[in-house]
Amino acid sequence: MSGVARIGHGWDVHRLVAGRPLVLGGVDLPSDRGEDGFSDGDALLHALIDALLGACALGDIGGHFPPGSEEFRGICSRVLLAKVRDLIAAAGFRPLNVDCTVALERPRIFPHVPRIRRTIAEDLGIPVESISVKGKTGEGLGPVGEGLAVEAWAVALVEELPR
Ligand code: MG
Repeated sequence: MSGVARIGHGWDVHRLVAGRPLVLGGVDLPSDRGEDGFSDGDALLHALIDALLGACALGDIGGHFPPGSEEFRGICSRVLLAKVRDLIAAAGFRPLNVDCTVALERPRIFPHVPRIRRTIAEDLGIPVESISVKGKTGEGLGPVGEGLAVEAWAVALVEELPR
């Protein structure tokens, strides 16, 4: 690493409702309930986007992609992640590694983690070894534990490239 390291943090929560796909990290998971939301509701990618923007002090997801704006209705959050990747690159930053945690009662995300990591690595253009994704349950407690919500947290380390 030749530049200055900067860290960012992101968090997101989405309500789980019947009749919506459950999308996490750009991957469709088998589930009878999915995230409610203006976009595809991918809480994991939304937390990650905020972590990346936060590391670069470039605002937040709601500022860049306002919910209610027709151009973002139902949009795949991978498209938003790619836009953020380009945005931070244009500002002179490069992602080094990310670490994400998803709290979801069911289904367990563990079997899907390899595919989620590959998807994020591909979208960010960094090695899969630099992407960590971990699943937790709510232990039956609170909105996550009762299966009413999915929550996600992410931290991202970026390098500020010398100009
Ligand atoms: Mg969100």
